[in-house]
Amino acid sequence: MNEPLIIAGQEIKPGSRQIVDFPLPPLSAHSELDIPVHVIRGKKDGPCLLVCAALHGDEINGIEIIRRLVGLKSISRLSGTLIAVPIVNIYGFIHMSRYLPDRRDLNRSFPGSEKGSLAARLAHRFMQEVVSKSTHGIDLHTAAVHRDNFPQIRANLDDDETLRLAEAFRAPLIIDAALRPGTIREAAVARDIPWLVYEAGEALRFDEVSIRAGVRGIVNVMREIGMLAKKRSSAALMPRTVKSNFWIRAPQSGISRLTVKLGAQVNKDDVLGYVSDPYGENETPVIAPNTGIIIGRTNLPLVHEGDALVHLARFRNTDTASEAVDQFQSELDPEENESVSGADPIV
Ligand SMILES: [Zn+2]
Repeated sequence: MNEPLIIAGQEIKPGSRQIVDFPLPPLSAHSELDIPVHVIRGKKDGPCLLVCAALHGDEINGIEIIRRLVGLKSISRLSGTLIAVPIVNIYGFIHMSRYLPDRRDLNRSFPGSEKGSLAARLAHRFMQEVVSKSTHGIDLHTAAVHRDNFPQIRANLDDDETLRLAEAFRAPLIIDAALRPGTIREAAVARDIPWLVYEAGEALRFDEVSIRAGVRGIVNVMREIGMLAKKRSSAALMPRTVKSNFWIRAPQSGISRLTVKLGAQVNKDDVLGYVSDPYGENETPVIAPNTGIIIGRTNLPLVHEGDALVHLARFRNTDTASEAVDQFQSELDPEENESVSGADPIV
């Protein structure tokens, strides 16, 4: 039997969809504030998947992923419920900032509390009204400002259900990521809700490949858990699990010129770029200490000694990981595959 589903005081009946306005404390100027929550409920019972974005207010790729996701025709035929929240940290979003107005990080404030800071209250209400109604979750992020991430899933792979979702998403790379205190992922896992974090692209930018991969990945997960009809498996390569990952840091302060792209395979001792002083002198190369694949990089050339420049992932077999990366890029590259832009494309 379908249980009643009530979010922010509104009941959403089976076989219906609506946008619930989730009220939050107003701005200091007294403007009313609420966040829209898409709730799409199938006639048939099934899992309740929560997809949320912009917990960091400047990470906007996920907003576009959700816009495309809820516009898919196939979504209206789902079993169970999709709850999609394009902007969780509306305060940060308004200011194009990662943080809340008091500089707190919402994704370090979970599960929150009723009487705590603004961040704690927002986290608490979101847990009560939305997360606790869900059976599975996907949280959409990008790299922090001035940095770019190659599309990747971060999850706790020790849990079988989470591993199943992580593989079903079909991002090219998976990182077995320890739970970080205060994150929504930690709070959800404490409630036995399997949870994925999708990290792709750069803050304050749209990245077409990351967006397409995100929409496709969520649909793949919905198929895996029985919310959408299964499709015959395509030739998509299995995602590759990262063995270890670390940042290569600036050897000196100055101006960096990185010469490697995201997704590139590099070999031990390859030159990844240079850092020089602003006059082009005292140049120091940035050297790869290991063979691996570039999964993140800074796009800001102004660096201090020790700043993170290039995020390198190591694999048991770098060549097969690189193959998965290449196939992924050619499947989703907008220039090679024009037909996949638009509303109901890649699924
Ligand atoms: Zn983030």
